[in-house]
Amino acid sequence: LEAEYERRTPTSKEHFEEARTYLPGGDTREVTYVDPYPTFVEEASGCTLTTADGEELLDFLNNYTQSVLGHAPPTVVDAVTERFARGNGLAAPTTEATELARRIVERVPSVETVRFANSGTEATMNAIRAAIAHTGNEHVLKLDGAFHGTHDTVLVGVEDEGRENPGVPTTVEERVSTVPFNDTKALVEAFERHGDDLACFIVDPIMGNAGMIPPREGFLETARDLTADTDTLLLFDEVMTFRMDPGGAQERYGIRPDLTAFGKFIGGGLPAGAFGGREDVMSVFDPATGSVTHSGTFNANPATMVGGAATLDALDGNAIERLNDLGATARERLEAVCADAEVPAQVTGDASFLNVHFTDDEVRDARTGTTHEAITERFSLAMRNRGVFVADRGLVNLSTPMGEPEIDALVDAVEGALADLSTAAAF
Ligand code: PMP
Repeated sequence: LEAEYERRTPTSKEHFEEARTYLPGGDTREVTYVDPYPTFVEEASGCTLTTADGEELLDFLNNYTQSVLGHAPPTVVDAVTERFARGNGLAAPTTEATELARRIVERVPSVETVRFANSGTEATMNAIRAAIAHTGNEHVLKLDGAFHGTHDTVLVGVEDEGRENPGVPTTVEERVSTVPFNDTKALVEAFERHGDDLACFIVDPIMGNAGMIPPREGFLETARDLTADTDTLLLFDEVMTFRMDPGGAQERYGIRPDLTAFGKFIGGGLPAGAFGGREDVMSVFDPATGSVTHSGTFNANPATMVGGAATLDALDGNAIERLNDLGATARERLEAVCADAEVPAQVTGDASFLNVHFTDDEVRDARTGTTHEAITERFSLAMRNRGVFVADRGLVNLSTPMGEPEIDALVDAVEGALADLSTAAAF
């Protein structure tokens, strides 16, 4: 697999070697660091990436679900460039922020007011801060293996490939606890132990980082009941899952959290995050009534706001339904491919997300999935050699320019990649 990859990508190799001189690891983003070196991409349009090596790749990664409309969607490009040309970064409010906030509040019933930031990391960080300020408690409960960005609190319990978190103070670890996803019993026990001290329980309604694992019936409901009983705030991380329904995963699964974090496409492809929820909680940010700091040079940057609004306008209920149907078709067809493969493989997911796991055992949490094992990296390499770009960890997600032909191409590539793995002695 590596030899074929190196044959196809000599320019990427050259670019990577040059990049390593100036950038530690040759990159600035962990997830784009792959063995033996990453593919450099020069441009993208719709669902196609053009690499530095002149290859066209079908993009089933979509910047880890951000490019839900595909790349360079014309209405978003027009809105952003028009706004940017009229001045950006104004250190004053603009109506564009109100417009995007209104759209989010109208779509997500649990969100009464919302604030903007520049990443999903900032969104979860500020939402947790709001929870601590509102409740007066400092302990945070999270899911084992869930990724919510790169601030200290949420790095506890991520353990990507067995690494601890050097750089995160041990005092932070003392005030964060974790529970396995989909384990209702463990959840009840965690609330028995920490219920009185918790500020919030931050939940990925479908576990993204651990491999697009959907919630089992009753898990999110129990989380809602236990948080309500202990005056703990339930914080949904919908950075990825907002695309599952016009009102996000919380509408799809029928749970009303107290706070929600958003990111990815919320800024139309420009760096963005947002967090919102109950008005009484969010009022900690209102300088007239609260005193929690939320500052940021680029918060609610006008070009980002219009990009987000144009994206939400395009991603209406019909677009989401079509995308989710396409996702269901893809999962069904890939399940059949996995069942016939010589290597143990299965597909998890929901809506327009799916993830390939290399195990026959049931995948229900971060421990039972195989997303961070070497095998998924080899799978992604095999897929790339076949012209399909997926995440190193087996994540696949769809974008609105896609249709049946792209699903055909995906299914063919997965079939071929699984055959490559069975002959490449990958296990
Ligand atoms: N939460 C979830 C569920 C995510 O998937 C991510 C990023 N992949 C984040 C938070 C962090 O977002 P960002 O990379 O924009 O900081």
